[in-house]
Amino acid sequence: MHKRFLFIGVLFLLLGCGRAPTLEEKEEFTPYLNRFLAYSKQNGRDLSASVNVTYGNLQGKHLGVCEEAWLQTPHVEINRAAWGASPESTKEMMLFHELGHCLLGRSHIDTKVSAGPSLIPSSIMGSHGVPGRLYEQFQDYYLTELFNRS
Ligand SMILES: [Zn+2]
Repeated sequence: MHKRFLFIGVLFLLLGCGRAPTLEEKEEFTPYLNRFLAYSKQNGRDLSASVNVTYGNLQGKHLGVCEEAWLQTPHVEINRAAWGASPESTKEMMLFHELGHCLLGRSHIDTKVSAGPSLIPSSIMGSHGVPGRLYEQFQDYYLTELFNRS
């Protein structure tokens, strides 16, 4: 869900960063962005960074990608087909995952924690995120983990 290829950064320096969101994209993604900023504030992190969230032409199974380039506003691209086919909980998880990269500077972490008798991914920053039903069930845990891990 995340790639940070150097050539993308170089390309954006030459061509300018990803495009600004359309009105449709703003209406779709702003509520998630606002929730992300509110949760962040609740967890003692008042983020002032801005980010552009748009639909993008992502290859294969990539659900989303955070693209960062020097001196440019970070840009999250979302796979339109995957987004449209996902339940609400999965949408929030996938967008928050990308914002974790773009706004919190988080990298992937693929460890597990025990939740009762089962092992679950320790973070939505796992390379494959977490299944929507787990995110829904353990949302408080995942949000606390997302904003409090340095
Ligand atoms: Zn990722």
